[in-house]
Amino acid sequence: MYKTIVIGTGPAGLTAAIYLARANLNPLVIEGPEPGGQLTTTTEVENFPGFPEGIMGPELMDNMRKQAEKFGAQFRTGWVNEVDMSKRPFKLKIEGGEELVAETLIISTGASAKLLGIENEKDNIGRGVSTCATCDGFFFRNKKIIVVGGGDSAMEEANFLTRFGSEVRIVHRRSELRASKIMQDRAKENPKVVWSLNKTPLGVIAGEKGVTGLKVKDSDTGIEEVLETDGIFVAIGHTPNTGFLKGQLNTDELGYLVVNPGTSETNVPGVFACGDVQDHKYRQAITAAGSGCMAALDCEKFLEGHSVHDWSVSL
Ligand code: NAP
Repeated sequence: MYKTIVIGTGPAGLTAAIYLARANLNPLVIEGPEPGGQLTTTTEVENFPGFPEGIMGPELMDNMRKQAEKFGAQFRTGWVNEVDMSKRPFKLKIEGGEELVAETLIISTGASAKLLGIENEKDNIGRGVSTCATCDGFFFRNKKIIVVGGGDSAMEEANFLTRFGSEVRIVHRRSELRASKIMQDRAKENPKVVWSLNKTPLGVIAGEKGVTGLKVKDSDTGIEEVLETDGIFVAIGHTPNTGFLKGQLNTDELGYLVVNPGTSETNVPGVFACGDVQDHKYRQAITAAGSGCMAALDCEKFLEGHSVHDWSVSL
């Protein structure tokens, strides 16, 4: 039995692991299919304090992992299929059927970029379809780019992509944008940005060499057309990774875990949440790391008062 298991290895989970390990709580950290989380799919991180010259996302995550390991955190790779939170200690089943038992849990599984769910989209990820402008923008130098979405993410990605593309077309399914005024204005003032509003994406058109177009339907007239492009960036938001919890923790209307205000406590005593899985507002590496620290401290405090196991006997 572990005193605590941390699920997820983005900035939140790894910061929690550093704090837990330094407090001699010997955390087990479970790495999923995208170790290091979303920062491993970015290039330079310029706003993480302490790196005046910036740092590459993967390097930052690697450093955090090393720091956690240095203090004794153990790592396991595996997909968590099931968690039983009905009573403590909690039971987890990981890929292959192995069962792990822990007195406390820290959920830091983050959020994943949403896809449109249209024809040929998934098959062309990495062949012209992307959910990460900072990762893939570079490949579209002097090419035509489409960004799908009408929120702040789409505006931000479109502006960023004008550094590379010859033209960046924003395709949005309604005629009104969801993005904040300042972000809209920035995109509208950018001479490289063109607009296809009121167009619902239907399918990705691709050939041998990758993406060549996006098939869309006019949301009013129903008329279909193909917008020519070399790359499609899908920027329609994120989904918190909570599926494996199977409804055992309270979530908000968007599916994000709910924590007691000012803490990392979920509705199940002994289960804590940190990072993007419980935050759709800030979604920054530094806020995720800060909430990871909170989760570790909350967990430590909880174990002081509620341990079900006499650790002095077994250690
Ligand atoms: P969002 O605000 O939820 O916007 C998602 C956009 O994608 C919406 O315009 C939505 O269309 C569209 N969309 C969703 N599903 C779609 C589908 N299946 N087909 C076509 N279009 C679809 O998500 P977000 O832009 O990622 O922003 C999330 C949060 O992060 C917001 O609070 C935002 O302010 C914040 N954020 C802030 C910044 C910044 O300030 N620098 C940058 C990025 C994000 P509808 O409008 O029709 O629903």
